[in-house]
Amino acid sequence: MKVAVFSSKSYDKLFLEQNNQQHNHELKFFRPRLDDQTVALAKGFEVVCAFVNDCLDRSIIETLNQNGIKLIALRCAGYNNVDLEAAGELGIRVVRVPAYSPYSVAEHTIALILTLNRKIHRAYYRVREGNFALNGLLGFDLHDRTVGIVGTGKIGRLTGKILHGFGCKVLAYDLHPNADFAEKYGEYVSLENLLARADIVSLHCPLTPETHHLIDDRAIAIMKSGVMLVNTSRGGLVDTKAVIKGLKSKQIGHLALDVYEREGNMFFEDMSGEIIQDDVFERLLTFPNVIITGHQAFFTENALNNITQTTLSNITAIAQNQPCSNQVTTRS
Ligand code: NAD
Repeated sequence: MKVAVFSSKSYDKLFLEQNNQQHNHELKFFRPRLDDQTVALAKGFEVVCAFVNDCLDRSIIETLNQNGIKLIALRCAGYNNVDLEAAGELGIRVVRVPAYSPYSVAEHTIALILTLNRKIHRAYYRVREGNFALNGLLGFDLHDRTVGIVGTGKIGRLTGKILHGFGCKVLAYDLHPNADFAEKYGEYVSLENLLARADIVSLHCPLTPETHHLIDDRAIAIMKSGVMLVNTSRGGLVDTKAVIKGLKSKQIGHLALDVYEREGNMFFEDMSGEIIQDDVFERLLTFPNVIITGHQAFFTENALNNITQTTLSNITAIAQNQPCSNQVTTRS
């Protein structure tokens, strides 16, 4: 099929081209994000291949439909950026990569927790400047600490399992508790109970209308004073302004983010020579107890290989009119 690949970086091209040898789709790579300015680039293609910050709202989907697009192939797990109702009405199918390497995201979550707790981000620069003082680098043992996992799907369960291995007490909250996880690694409790008891709260549920700003003023007030909050899921789960208030009052003692609610215009781009216009994001960067990575949790060789293989297989399945279990609909 003729595929327009949006938000494509050199690594996307490399892995897609390598894995396309078995599929022979006609791939054309576009660097920009898909939005109302760039949607015209999709004219003449049958498939749009999109990533997390591409805009697939009703108006973009209507334009894609007018331009002959039959399939939206997401090369990610989350589909909160797609108006599934609009796609369904217009007969445009949507496929995704539900699992590519939960290890990549779970391991990055652990990297953030350890970095933030033991202040590795600060120690790294100190030692390079010949400053071997330890003041300000005091951490705590993870052993015996209570961790709250919100969302015990593939990534949340792995994160909980690893932290259980560190000797943490693991609390979990999910709409659909997992019996095996409950038996081996964690105790399911209500969200309020988890927030009230956890020393570390790690978010792993999808962004939906129900989970938007799950962590707001109210949730932060319930949390333990000095809590560590970690979000490697989707930026919209956290009300950033509420979190800034929490950091200023010291209710939040540590914050690690791999995602940010207004990341769309910044993440995945080199903005080092630009003036960042987002004052809320810039305020976050001023706190010594905040660490942010730019949506890189998924970024391992294994994950990129799996993402591109599944994306191309999804496109092939649809092209050959075969059933595709990775199709998402409003009923998903
Ligand atoms: P998953 O579908 O396996 O698990 C999601 C879990 O969240 C499910 O168990 C579900 O029941 C639960 N859930 C849904 N709504 C909930 C709610 N209101 N409250 C509590 N739990 C709820 O997904 P996954 O593969 O574990 O991925 C989790 C999230 O991680 C994805 O939604 C995606 O947004 C994010 N993600 C981030 C990156 C990254 O690079 N930072 C990469 C991949 C995925």
